[in-house]
Amino acid sequence: MSEPATSTGRLYEPLTAVLGARTAGGLKKLGLETVGDLVRHYPRRYGAPGEMTNIASLRTGEHVTVMAQVRSAQVRSMRSRGGAMLEAIVTDGSSTLQLTFFAKRAGVLRMHEDKLRAGRTGLFTGTVGEYRGRRQLTHPDYLIVGVDADNEDDAVLEASRPIPIYPATASVPTWRIGRSVRTVLDPLTEDDLPDPLPSALRESRSLPTLREALQLVHVPNEDADIRRGRDRLRFEEAFVLQAALARRRAAHADLTATARPPRTGGFLDALDARLPFALTEAQRDVGREIAEDLARDRPMMRLLQGDVGAGKTVVALRAMAQVIDAGGQAALLAPTEVLAAQHARSLRAMLGSLADGGMLGGADNATRIALLTGSLGSTARRQALAEAASGAAGIIVGTHALLSEGVQYADLGLVVVDEQHRFGVEQRDALRERGDRPPHTLVMTATPIPRTVAMTVFGDLETSVLGQRPAGRVEITTHLVPADNAPWMSRTWQRVREEVDAGRRVYVVCPRIDADGDAPQSDGSGSKSPAPGDVRPADGELTLDVGDAVVDDEPEVPLASVAATVEQLAALPELAGVRIGAMHGRLSAEDKDAVMAAFAGGEVPVLVSTTVIEVGVDVPQATMMVVLDAERFGISQLHQLRGRVGRADLPSLCLLVTRAAPGTIAEERLQALADTADGFVLAEKDLELRREGDVLGAAQSGGRSSLRLLRAVRDADLIDEARVAAAHVIESDPRLEQHPALASAVSAWLDPEREAFLERS
Ligand code: ADP
Ligand code: MG
Repeated sequence: MSEPATSTGRLYEPLTAVLGARTAGGLKKLGLETVGDLVRHYPRRYGAPGEMTNIASLRTGEHVTVMAQVRSAQVRSMRSRGGAMLEAIVTDGSSTLQLTFFAKRAGVLRMHEDKLRAGRTGLFTGTVGEYRGRRQLTHPDYLIVGVDADNEDDAVLEASRPIPIYPATASVPTWRIGRSVRTVLDPLTEDDLPDPLPSALRESRSLPTLREALQLVHVPNEDADIRRGRDRLRFEEAFVLQAALARRRAAHADLTATARPPRTGGFLDALDARLPFALTEAQRDVGREIAEDLARDRPMMRLLQGDVGAGKTVVALRAMAQVIDAGGQAALLAPTEVLAAQHARSLRAMLGSLADGGMLGGADNATRIALLTGSLGSTARRQALAEAASGAAGIIVGTHALLSEGVQYADLGLVVVDEQHRFGVEQRDALRERGDRPPHTLVMTATPIPRTVAMTVFGDLETSVLGQRPAGRVEITTHLVPADNAPWMSRTWQRVREEVDAGRRVYVVCPRIDADGDAPQSDGSGSKSPAPGDVRPADGELTLDVGDAVVDDEPEVPLASVAATVEQLAALPELAGVRIGAMHGRLSAEDKDAVMAAFAGGEVPVLVSTTVIEVGVDVPQATMMVVLDAERFGISQLHQLRGRVGRADLPSLCLLVTRAAPGTIAEERLQALADTADGFVLAEKDLELRREGDVLGAAQSGGRSSLRLLRAVRDADLIDEARVAAAHVIESDPRLEQHPALASAVSAWLDPEREAFLERS
């Protein structure tokens, strides 16, 4: 870890001191508190001078920023209400929009009238209203292009420049941000802006300095400036990120672990002899890689990716077996208690008498599996802890709590983390810092991570891919069902009935737990929604093209909830007599177990659930899934959910019920799911369709350390190049003593926030 970024210098000056309390207060809502924050707040797009907004496409109720030309402006007094009003008409050349200002006296409005001269072009921001059939903005905030300059030359230049459009809020319009940026940027010198890019690297790539680049993106004279500035800043992001990852790898290379070489005639061989199926070639290949890693005296740090149903569990179990053969223990971490219990059950089933160590009738090589969850009674808990501490248990299954202080191991040799996307950098670090000999670590995920993202966020891990699924697996048929099509909905519930009558199980997935409002789910597996009071960096609130305008997120019909859906289904004639269960994150661990057991056993063949069942739940008889309000879920999430069916050789069906209109992006996303079962294709599609700023999730929204310009898919080559360049620098200067600016950028970057994108859960 390097020194924390020095907190002196002009970049750390608070904006209140530079811009005054009022302006700084508005900027604070955007997460901008220092000069450094503000100069790194890049425009999200640029308006071309003279390029008008299509006024006809504005919709009432939208908050918009419109570029238009003033046609007329006139102050008049209002006879009926007293006072005065200014009415201006602006146009894009074909349609018009009215601007209205009210005041007690006409004099107050003269200032506007004087600025809003016919023929001038401006940006106008406000909420589109309607008055007597005409669309209008009332008291819009506005900027007349070129008029707010100090002299005529500046005005002419200003009028011909690309207009930066900043992520903004309704209270701080984009041009106020722009003006603030220029105020703080102008006096900054090269020395005030230490450049994380080593000068040799910068020169070899002919990149501008940081000072120059900021000038280019904030105050471009022409489009080429924007590109030049952005390219350099984007490369810088990739480089800092890769330098951070290269440092982690270098630090990791110094660690020592206990080597756990394989042994013949032991537990692993006994396990292999018991398996009811032949391993696939992919399972064998990956198994070999892992076996080699475990045999080394460096801690393994491996990410195992394999689509749902690829058969990762048996790969993990075989790794655990090798460690047990070498005298060590293995901990298996599941994201939820439900999954931990399920893992314990299925491992015991796979191991049979091999899991009865120390018991009468246990096999020679047998070990024990301890399940350690929060819902255990105190006796059971004490026993599990004792088995972990004494080494009687070779395998300990649980949640993250397994890594807490309270759990002692005789000799922990391997940690397997199932469903990596809930296991972040911090936890990985905590593992490495355990004792003086960190355990080997295998993280598994079914969330397909495109190569570039893997490189970006998990660049400190080696990666294995389990590409091939065990044979005999059936395809899952996926269809979209329009929610407002009554006959189709009825048919949907009939199909559910048919599955139940055939002895199968059906999941019905809802976005919410109960009808009133957003249901936070205790185990973090609900769909994520912004916290109240979250400042959305107005993605779209203030933009020139209406395609981005903020639309009210809430549909008029409430979202399907588990509570309401259970009631509705119970009342349907199609499902008369069918028992329906409810599952969500707010149930106690015992209740969850009981519900899952009743569902798996068939007593309750229909399970209405939130996304708690998203990962890992394995009920082979489940052959159908109905997802309600499917457009509320992410593509990858739906793919995970869908993986809950089609787990045996029974043909399976997934119906995505949606209100998304044909032709919308929401519908396109769902259609992609219907079109392909390939998780990797879907993950790429997901990245492609997600909006700017979303690619790396919450990490985009604030904080000095986040990715701003880099896009995992589009910038793949750039990330590759940066990786090579960063590796060179770290190799010759591992502690970055010669590169203080890079060192502080790297520390700022090493922030758990950056991983948030995988936690959209
Ligand atoms: P995931 O990768 O999603 O965790 P699992 O490990 O749960 O997948 O495996 C899914 C199912 O496939 C399990 O029921 C498992 O027993 C079975 N399975 C695993 N490997 C094979 C194989 N080589 N041949 C047949 N079935 C297999
Ligand atoms: Mg699994």
